[in-house]
Amino acid sequence: MPGIYIHIPFCRQACHYCNFHFSVSQKRRPEFVQALKKEIALQKDFLKADNQEKVILDTIYFGGGTPSLLEISELDDIFSELFTYYQLASDAEVTLESNPDDLGPEKLAALSNTPVNRLSIGIQSFHASDLKYMNRSHTAEQAEKVLPDAEKAGFKNITADLIYGTPGMSDAQWKENIMKLISHDIPHISAYSLTVEKKTALEVFIRKGKAPPVDEEQSARQFEILCEITSQHGYEHYEISNFGKPGFFSRHNLSYWSGVPYLGLGPSAHSYLDGLRRWNIANTCNYIDNLQNGQLPPFEQENLDKDQQYNEYVMTALRTMWGVNKELVKKRFGDDYFEKLMHASRKFLKNGKMQETSSHLIISAEGKFLADGISAEFFV
Ligand code: SF4
Repeated sequence: MPGIYIHIPFCRQACHYCNFHFSVSQKRRPEFVQALKKEIALQKDFLKADNQEKVILDTIYFGGGTPSLLEISELDDIFSELFTYYQLASDAEVTLESNPDDLGPEKLAALSNTPVNRLSIGIQSFHASDLKYMNRSHTAEQAEKVLPDAEKAGFKNITADLIYGTPGMSDAQWKENIMKLISHDIPHISAYSLTVEKKTALEVFIRKGKAPPVDEEQSARQFEILCEITSQHGYEHYEISNFGKPGFFSRHNLSYWSGVPYLGLGPSAHSYLDGLRRWNIANTCNYIDNLQNGQLPPFEQENLDKDQQYNEYVMTALRTMWGVNKELVKKRFGDDYFEKLMHASRKFLKNGKMQETSSHLIISAEGKFLADGISAEFFV
C-alpha cells in the first residue's frame, strides 16, 4: 500500500551539520499550511488506481525541517484535508519527526489525540557539549525529559535519533547516550555518523579551524560500540543506520526501500511511482506563491532507466540485513546484471566484508561501516 511524505520546511535554529531544506523564519508558516492543503487537493490522483474511490495509505510521514513546530490546529487542518481524499489502513503508521524542545507534556497529550502514532525524536545526544557543537536548539535537560513525558502521554512506538563521531564525545559518553534510550525501552533507534556536508556551517568552521574536524576512526569505533550494545539488548540491526525491536521496524523506510509508491508533498519533497521519480522545488516562498495562484510548484522528474533501477535496488538492499536477493536480480534485471552482481561481489566475499547464502548477498558485520563504499562498487 502506498504512503505519503510531507516536508515541513521550518526549524527553530540551524544545526551546523544540516543540509536539508528549511528556513528558520516561520513568518510564512500559516500560508505554508494553506498552500500544503492546496497541493494535497491538486495531487489527489497521483497515487490513485483506475476506479479507486479513495487511496488507502499504509504510512504517512511528517519530515523536515521540524514538523513538531506545527500547532496542533495546523496538524488537524492538514489531516482533515488528507482524509478528504485518502483513507488510513487500520494499522497505518503515522510518524511525526520532532525535537525535544517542542514536546512539552501539554503538546504531547494533544498530539496523542491526533492520528500520529509514532514519534521520531531528534535527541542526537544527552550531553550539552555535543549539542553545542552541533548547534541543536534543545538542551540536555530537555533531551532527558522528553522520553518519560512521551511515554506518559501514551506513545509506545517511539524512535530516537542519535549522532556519533562528534569531536570531543568519548566512547564512555557515547555508551551513556545509547544506554539512556535502552533504559527507557525505546523500541527503535536511528543512529548516524556525523558527516561534514558541503555548504554547511560545520564545513566552514572546520575549514577555518574554528571547530575540530571529524575523526573517521572515532566514528568507526563508536559504530562498533553501537552495534554491540544494541544487539545485546534485543535490537535487530535491520539497516545500516536503523536498529529496531521486532515489530517496530520503520514501515515508512521499509516501503521506501522496496519501491512502494509514495507521494511527497511540500518543498523539496520527492515522490516515486512505477520508476518515475519527481521532486518539488526546494524553495518555500516559490512553493507557497505558486499554490496561492492555484498552480502546482515547479518540479523536476526523471524516469529511472534499467541501470538506475538496478543501482538503486543494490544500494538500498545492501544496506539492509536481508541483503540483495540473487533470484530477484536475475528475474527483474536479467542474466547480464546477475553476472555483474556476482562479479562485483567476489572481492568482498574473499576479504570477509560480505557473505553469500543460497539466496542472498549480505554485507557482513565487518563490512557494515563501509556499506556505502561497498555498494558503490556494484554500480553499473
Ligand atoms: S532540526 Fe533537523 S532539519 Fe532542522 S536544522 Fe536541525 S537537523 Fe536540520
